[in-house]
Amino acid sequence: MFTKLTENENTLSFEVFPPKKDGEFEKAFEVLDALGKLNPDYISVTYGAGGSRAGKTIEIASYIQNTLGIDAMAHMTCVGSKREQLLEVYRELKAHNVTHVLALRGDRPKDMSDEQFMDKDFEHASDMMAFLKENTDLHLAGACYPEKHFESFSMESDLNNLKKKQDAGAEFFISQLFLDNDFYYAFLEKAAKKGITVPICAGIMPITSVKQIGTSITLAGSSVPKAMADILATHGDNPDDMRKAGVDYAIRQIRDLRENGVQHIHLYSMNRPKTTAEIVTGIQ
Ligand code: FAD
Repeated sequence: MFTKLTENENTLSFEVFPPKKDGEFEKAFEVLDALGKLNPDYISVTYGAGGSRAGKTIEIASYIQNTLGIDAMAHMTCVGSKREQLLEVYRELKAHNVTHVLALRGDRPKDMSDEQFMDKDFEHASDMMAFLKENTDLHLAGACYPEKHFESFSMESDLNNLKKKQDAGAEFFISQLFLDNDFYYAFLEKAAKKGITVPICAGIMPITSVKQIGTSITLAGSSVPKAMADILATHGDNPDDMRKAGVDYAIRQIRDLRENGVQHIHLYSMNRPKTTAEIVTGIQ
């Protein structure tokens, strides 16, 4: 596991996504260069569920690890995937010195055939983790959900499944984004009672445009507290003001987390160095 997560220190990490098109890699590298200057403890790179674009994740993770010299973590999903496909990705990652993987189930992509979906080797992220633990030397992390995963009937059952991920080899967790810290504090308490002992990184996404409410927030199933609803109502029509207010909200959220003893913050950077830099400065 990344050493700073095991020491009694604060960490700040970022999430980035690979470019959608091949021609956009140069721009992506510029974004990474700028994010790298902010000295994150590690950077994680998202993965298209189904694995068809795994090569892009590997290329970006490799740039972070080998060119920027920053610890990289590649996300990896198992929905519709076979064991051999995961091992192929693992071999590529290893060849590029990337040793950490956020092991996820993923969601079925719209264009995945019934045949591929049914022909999978893994049902849950914990199954994938157990397999990777047995067959690779990867360091594994998993996802957790402060407001529970949308498929779970209760927080109780979701936490039981989270414990299965820890037992299967997850060395730490990264949380789904949340906008109300009280959900996170309650989650930490319940997780501890369930026997979750590994570090948990709090996932923070700056809400800098109204559009994100219809995309990221809806997908994540996160609640929108009144303070954020007020920001959207007041600044939603003015992109500049909305961006500033969203950055300020994220800063206040992180400060409150730090004041309440939360050590590990994972910032969904959205590949936006300016916004990320403002937040990094604002929380110092
Ligand atoms: P799981 O841990 O398998 O959980 C999914 C559901 O199944 C939950 O309701 C859980 O309670 C239940 N469950 C788990 N184990 C069991 C079990 N043994 N028995 C019964 N029920 C069980 N998606 C991408 O496609 N690419 C990405 O790069 C990506 N990055 C992400 C990063 C973070 C930090 C987070 C929080 C999510 C990310 N996602 C990504 C989204 C993720 O793939 C979805 O949230 C997906 O729906 C669940 O993935 P999981 O790994 O949490 O699944």
